[in-house]
Amino acid sequence: MKERAIIAQTLPPRDWDGSAADIITDPAELLRLVQLDSACLPAALAASRDFPLRVPRSYVKQMRLADPADPLLLQVLSRAEELDEVPGYSADPLEEAEHTPVPGILHKYQGRVLLMVTGACAIHCRYCFRRHFPYSEHLPTRDRLAAALDWLARQTDISEVILSGGDPLSVTDRRLAELLAALQAIPHLKRLRIHSRLPVVMPERVSECLLAMLGASRLKPVMVVHANHGAELGPEAGAALAALGAAGVQLLNQSVLLRGVNDDAATLAALSERLLEVGVLPYYLHQLDRVAGAAHFAVSDQQALQLLVELHARLPGYLVPRLVREESGAAGKTLLETSG
Ligand SMILES: *Cc1c(COP(=O)(O)O)cnc(C)c1O
Ligand code: SF4
Repeated sequence: MKERAIIAQTLPPRDWDGSAADIITDPAELLRLVQLDSACLPAALAASRDFPLRVPRSYVKQMRLADPADPLLLQVLSRAEELDEVPGYSADPLEEAEHTPVPGILHKYQGRVLLMVTGACAIHCRYCFRRHFPYSEHLPTRDRLAAALDWLARQTDISEVILSGGDPLSVTDRRLAELLAALQAIPHLKRLRIHSRLPVVMPERVSECLLAMLGASRLKPVMVVHANHGAELGPEAGAALAALGAAGVQLLNQSVLLRGVNDDAATLAALSERLLEVGVLPYYLHQLDRVAGAAHFAVSDQQALQLLVELHARLPGYLVPRLVREESGAAGKTLLETSG
């Protein structure tokens, strides 16, 4: 109840218009806001040249001040380590370019496809496997989107479309409404899944219009949000997620296992418990994709499996995410199995 009351105050009154006013892109401003000195500024600037720094103000507000090891800050502040070349880490670790029947569609797994709605994200996570993705070649112009929808209408064995990106919720409610109408008109589609980090990092994105749109859809809405640490889920994010749940959206979470951020059992258990409080079930815990610039976040498989054993001991089974790795060429995500 408390969280519902908060969302009523923080929701924009009308549609989401894609306003980027509240996004910080200057490393110096970020450091100033969290009260850190600028000793690491030159490295931050150098590392943000290829993949710019981008972080919503609402996310910065959840950070601890004057703490260079804050788990939220570590996810967004560009650092010198990103420029290291590490063997085994490449620009396109998943070879996504090979699974693209038409621009904007990724078809790797049976029955479901990814539709790239936009190349843009409100936040740039430094470990992102799409940090080198050639978005310009897949940018969803109107023509390309029409061609992708045409292709979907002909693939009668596909029942679920996954809106992806970039972050699909970084487009306006108006564009989302048009897209939803087009998808609903394709008879063999049953489910609409949205992969978005925005309800967590910019909860004000969960507009009344978005809630109404998803609630009214013929397609069963599923949203896979992306939180890596319980501290990301403050009262506003909690309220936004609760509102999505109340609108009939099935909510799941995916996290990435990140060294220095969430690579201990207590942190992961607290995340699962906080997720449940706001109506979200843990779905995936991803092993890092080996994308160039992210090697400093890697956790070994051995440690990851050990963490999973500890989580199983601490939590009910439904609060333990599936530990997976994405491998190019596999027919689904690869489950890392525990024997114990
Ligand atoms: C993860 C992913 C999906 C969805 O897989 P689920 O097992 O249904 O969660 C679909 N397509 C691609 C390319 C993916 O990476
Ligand atoms: S929100 Fe998702 S797609 Fe965007 S930078 Fe972060 S991990 Fe990558």
